[in-house]
Amino acid sequence: MKTIAISACLLGEKCRYDASDNKSEDLLEKLKGHTLIPFCPEDFAFGSPRPTMDLIRTKEGDKAISNEDAEDLSSPINQYAIHFFNEHPDIDLFIGKDRSPSCGVCSAKLYDAEKNLLSNKEAGLMAKEAKKRGIECFDAEDYV
Ligand code: SF4
Repeated sequence: MKTIAISACLLGEKCRYDASDNKSEDLLEKLKGHTLIPFCPEDFAFGSPRPTMDLIRTKEGDKAISNEDAEDLSSPINQYAIHFFNEHPDIDLFIGKDRSPSCGVCSAKLYDAEKNLLSNKEAGLMAKEAKKRGIECFDAEDYV
């Protein structure tokens, strides 16, 4: 049995930007018997619903920037991630919602300041922290 950190929206929590979920019955079936620890940095920091954000490359690194008012939203997401992994040092596996700027593992889009697409194979901010800690990470779509 593994201890798995997983994007809460995949479990059916209505924590997406539009207060919907990404529930995946196939994924839940596959994860039966494991201990699942849900997380959602964006809901914790900004609530649901909330404005969308994109990952933008800056001189100071990759940032989560609001599509509403261009505010840099990275700090609360990064702080949530650090706190989450410090609180759960026993995590074996990280499963993040693919393409999310917070949770995507190898599938998040990264733009430059003019919103030109630089890559669609990036890690979101929370997934970056998991990788930094040496946790095995999967995009949900690759794990099913
Ligand atoms: S992808 Fe991550 S940040 Fe977005 S709703 Fe799901 S858990 Fe929250």
